[in-house]
Amino acid sequence: AKREGRNQSRIYTADMSTQTQARVALEKNLRRALAKREFLLHYQPQVDLQTGQIVGMEALLRWQRPGFGIVPPAEFIPVAEESGLIIPIGEWVLREACTQNKLWQDAGLPSLRMAVNISARQFGLNGRFMTEMVDQVLKESGLMPEYLELELTESLVMANPEQTAHILHRLKDRGISISVDDFGTGYSSLSYLKRFPIDKLKIDRSFVRDITHDDADAAIVNAVISLGHSLNLQVIAEGVETTEQLEYLRQEGCDGIQGYLFSRPMPAIALTQMLRKVRPF
Ligand code: C2E
Ligand code: CA
Ligand code: CA
Ligand code: CA
Repeated sequence: AKREGRNQSRIYTADMSTQTQARVALEKNLRRALAKREFLLHYQPQVDLQTGQIVGMEALLRWQRPGFGIVPPAEFIPVAEESGLIIPIGEWVLREACTQNKLWQDAGLPSLRMAVNISARQFGLNGRFMTEMVDQVLKESGLMPEYLELELTESLVMANPEQTAHILHRLKDRGISISVDDFGTGYSSLSYLKRFPIDKLKIDRSFVRDITHDDADAAIVNAVISLGHSLNLQVIAEGVETTEQLEYLRQEGCDGIQGYLFSRPMPAIALTQMLRKVRPF
């Protein structure tokens, strides 16, 4: 039994070090990817449920890794966050998204709001860094702040509420919109909703998936829509894949949807084609 125990612990140690090695290698590759411009953004439209028009889009990070194809963010964002690399990567994302949005506007396409995901690490210890970075990017890209929206998760906003409230108010003062991503999956206290200058709630895909045949999910979604509206917030549902889900959400008064039903996230050039058409549905 003793020998077995020792073996187990040795295997365990070997596993850990393999994991650590993989993590270190990934971190190195991410650093290189940033320098070699291997990142790109895909954009997913957000559609107004009343008018059927595209009213905004979300920028989603992709890594075009030579020899691996397109790597989804779930495979590298966690390491980027832990290593702190999300700070320069996130800055790149913001700059690219704002620049692209300005290009679309300059091309005479309808002016839309661009939503960009922000990690807790980007808020940092010193909030000035975040606001200065955003100011700098807006200035360089020439994008009006009204056309930028930042998506934050509940865990981010609750990690350091005082600090976060301060930064969010400063961003809000500039005309930037703030939305709470994956709403309902994070911190359970809702008190932040009245303290922070939030514009929009995004209902997480996990609640939307079974909305038409799971009473509990339907009840949660209905409650989020009423809560949002009574606080004067926009409510948008993510992960909408079927017309049944769309009709349900429309009936319940949800303001907008984002999901494969309407469009998958796509490269800028494909979205340009879509934006040239008048009405999506
Ligand atoms: P998220 O912010 O919740 O983004 C929505 C995710 O749902 C995207 O996955 C999108 O492709 C996917 N999605 C959209 N519609 C549907 C649908 O109808 N069905 C299904 N099954 N999925 C749908 P993606 O692009 O793989 O991104 C995953 C996560 O990675 C994002 O979740 C976000 O948390 C993170 N992420 C992506 N880009 C960035 C970024 O630039 N910065 C940071 N910090 N995080 C990012
Ligand atoms: Ca998001
Ligand atoms: Ca989300
Ligand atoms: Ca989500």
